[in-house]
Amino acid sequence: MDIRIGNGYDVHALAEGLPLWLGGVRIDSPVGCIAHSDGDVPIHALCDALLGALALGDIGKHFPDTSEEFRGIDSKILLSRTMSLITEAGYKVGNADITISMQRPRLAPYISEMRETLAGLMSVPVVDVSVKATTTEKLGFVGRGEGCEAYAVVLLHRIPQAG
Ligand code: MG
Repeated sequence: MDIRIGNGYDVHALAEGLPLWLGGVRIDSPVGCIAHSDGDVPIHALCDALLGALALGDIGKHFPDTSEEFRGIDSKILLSRTMSLITEAGYKVGNADITISMQRPRLAPYISEMRETLAGLMSVPVVDVSVKATTTEKLGFVGRGEGCEAYAVVLLHRIPQAG
């Protein structure tokens, strides 16, 4: 198969006074994610989409939250390691599309930097990485500001082999 599709989903609870990292970017926010790692929800969803595309399991399998190695880890490192697995399997990213759902703060000012950061980590042009932000119109746990969730879809292409 020359192309593969994957999807990923992640949620973290929010608490006051914690740093908020989304898409590899530090967000100015009174709340941040409760997590074993830095709690970067869109990166976690993206890693799961990448792994899912090749049926390589999930982020919890490769980077267990019971491991001291991953305590407080920068999720950009998790994405880099995930990309190594994708490359070793002979695939590269075609494009990725991510949706972050969070009631506040407003994420629009950070979207460009998230796209640039994620594109760099996946070795693709920025035009091949979409990051979108939405709210849930104050409905549910996202709407009450209790959590942040993200969805990701990726397309992978097999890297042509020489000869
Ligand atoms: Mg997570």
